[in-house]
This record gives sequence, C-alpha cells and structure tokens, in this order.
Amino acid sequence: MSAGQVHDLFVGSMNFEEKFDLFIPGPTPIPPRVVRAMSRPIINHRGSEFHKVFKNITEKAKELLKTSGDAIILTSSGTGGMEAAASNLLSPGDHVLVGVAGAFGERYAKILEAYHVNVTRIRSSEPGKAVDPAHFEEELKRDPKIKAVFVTQNETSTGVRTDVRSIARIAKEHGALVIVDAISSFAAMELSMDDWGVDVVIAASQKALMTPPGLAVVGVSKDAWKAMESATLPRFYFDLRLAKRSAEKWETPATPAVSLLFGLDEALSIIFEQGPENFIKHHEVLSQMARSGVAALGFPLLAQDDCASTTVTAVKGLEGMSADEFRRQVRKYEVVLAGGQGELSGKIFRLAHLGYISQMDIIKAISAIELALADMGHPVKFGSGVAAAMSAMRGKQVGE
Ligand code: PMP
Repeated sequence: MSAGQVHDLFVGSMNFEEKFDLFIPGPTPIPPRVVRAMSRPIINHRGSEFHKVFKNITEKAKELLKTSGDAIILTSSGTGGMEAAASNLLSPGDHVLVGVAGAFGERYAKILEAYHVNVTRIRSSEPGKAVDPAHFEEELKRDPKIKAVFVTQNETSTGVRTDVRSIARIAKEHGALVIVDAISSFAAMELSMDDWGVDVVIAASQKALMTPPGLAVVGVSKDAWKAMESATLPRFYFDLRLAKRSAEKWETPATPAVSLLFGLDEALSIIFEQGPENFIKHHEVLSQMARSGVAALGFPLLAQDDCASTTVTAVKGLEGMSADEFRRQVRKYEVVLAGGQGELSGKIFRLAHLGYISQMDIIKAISAIELALADMGHPVKFGSGVAAAMSAMRGKQVGE
C-alpha cells in the first residue's frame, strides 16, 4: 500500500472530523488556559468577584486601545459594537463617509443606512487595494456637513490594511469624528487611539483576542462622549451611556456573558505576559511566512505588500482552479481555510493567522497547501512553500 493510500485509509477509516486547525479569520483557536478559565462555575454578576474580573478586563482593554477615554465591554458580536457606534454618535440625516475596500466596509455602510444616515462610500479602486486617504480629503472638502468618517482597519474579506492614521488625521482637520472597525486587527496590528485621533474603536473577542465569539470591546474618546449628548438615533441595549454608568461600578446594564468574560480576562493576561508590542510583531512574522509560502508555490496574492494585512492573507486561485474545491482538498490535511466573500466567492481562499496561531502552525498550513496542490494535479516541488515560510520565519525575528 502506498503512503498516499495509507493516508486515505486513515482519513476514511477513523473519524478525524475533530482533528483540524482553524486558519479562518475568526472565530480563532482558543488557548487551553482560556478554555480552562471559561469552565469556572458562574458567579453573581453583581458581586465583588465579578467586579474584579470586569475591572481587570476594562483596564487592560484601555491599555491596548492606548486611550485616556473609556473601554466599554458589550455582550455582542462585533457587528453589535459597530451598530452601537453608529446609533450613539449620530442623528438621522447626518452625513458620513465610509471606507469600502470589501465586505466589512460595505457592512458598515449598510448599518448606517438602516439608521437613515446619509452615507458616501469611499471605495478602493479594486479588491485587494486599500481606500485612498486623499479621496477622504476630497470629500471632506466638498461636503462640510460630514460629521463622521468610518473605516475598517483590516478589511478581512480581502486581507487589506487601511492607513487609519492618515485618514484620521485628515478627518480631524475637518472636525469629523473617526470610527474604526478594528475587529480583525485589534491587539494584532498597531493602533493608537489618542495619538491618531480616533474617537471610537470596535474590537471583538473571537479574533486576535483569542476568546470565543460573543463579546465586543468599544473604545470611546472624550469627543465621542460629547457627540452622544446631541445624537438622536434610537438606542437601548447598545446605549453606551448606560454601559458607562454601569461600568463605573464594574457592572453592565444587562446580564453579561460571564463565562466569556472569564475567558477574555485570561486571554488579555496572556497578551500582557507576552507584551502587546511583541504580540503585534508575532503577527507580522506569521504574515511574512504565509505570504512567502503561498507565493513560492505560484499563488498570486490579492493584496500587495504595501497594504497587506498582517492577520489575513488572501490568495487568488491558480489558473482554472476553483478556490473552494482547493479548500476542500486542503481540509483533508486538517487545515481549515476560509473562502472568498461576495464577488470574490470561489475565486480566493484566505489563510488567516491571528490570535493563538504559532509559526509552526503556518508551516503545517503551507505543507497542507502543497499536498493539496499535488492532489489536484498541479506540479509542485514538495517543500518549496515550506522552505520559503521557514526562511521568512528566520529572516525576521520577533523583537527585531
Ligand atoms: N468587521 C470586520 C473587519 C470583521 O472581520 C468582522 C467579522 N469577520 C466583522 C466586522 C463582523 O463581526 P461579527 O461577525 O463579530 O459581528
């Protein structure tokens, strides 16, 4: 029996459905320490033990946000945090700009339109490109009524990083609020709320924060609190002013996801033990490894280096290849990749590397990609992708 047949037999005869590694951009793998923390018995969410946990989380989140403003923790997925920022800051008919470089920028535009906000989309020129700060400036000059600018720091659907710093500077010069969806970048990519002039940052637990889905972190600046005083859009569950009032007692207005908070507390401890700056560098190395590995195998990268995300690598399928069929082949080797969204569906696959992903995990992912390529009849020199990834691993040391 050939080695290939043994593999097929093994996969076929044993139920290995539970043996896989996730390389999707959220939910991401959970460190065992976080799993253990979440298995703690439930406690009174109005008691002193809870207060301690909630205080810890809030203070660490503030530190990661780099703000003298507030960190509000919501029991919600990231989209709820996005909606909270929209409904708390604005009034019907307000003019806003929304950067759209893919599916998540478009989601923000749709949320705002659902609230009867007047949205102008600033689009990237094509998928895989970033939105251009100069286009924001043109629009801000043209329409002095623009009250807020919304951008996605890391467009997860295309693996593209946005120049938040430049856009925030321009928006501030025109007196507009700046809201950043940092859901798939928070803690993994550099972001400095106060220094960059960002008013609201939205993060979610299931990304680099290494906790299951269900919590959103919303950073709020002093200017943002001021804007809320005159905003008239309806809000209740997501009323950030109520959340702030409760947080003064280290509580939440409604019952929070207590177990997830235990997990997030532990995950934040892990990040601070590593050092937040090292955690960011770790993602840079993972991204270099992933990009070098797939490029060495002949795959075109969707985003060029100058705007490439360090948490998600979007890869175009080879000529004549269905990216979804390719993902199915890769899955046989215990590696789960994400597909394309919207117009990129079936055309790309995404190899995500955020949160609890190690350098050796990337080596596994690249080797699975090599094996699947060979299975699909593509010429591949075994080890060439892995070798490129290993070189990238050694070429750029953490802390360099
Ligand atoms: N924005 C970005 C950039 C995202 O990556 C995601 C989730 N993939 C969302 C928004 C939506 O977050 P959630 O699914 O947690 O509501």
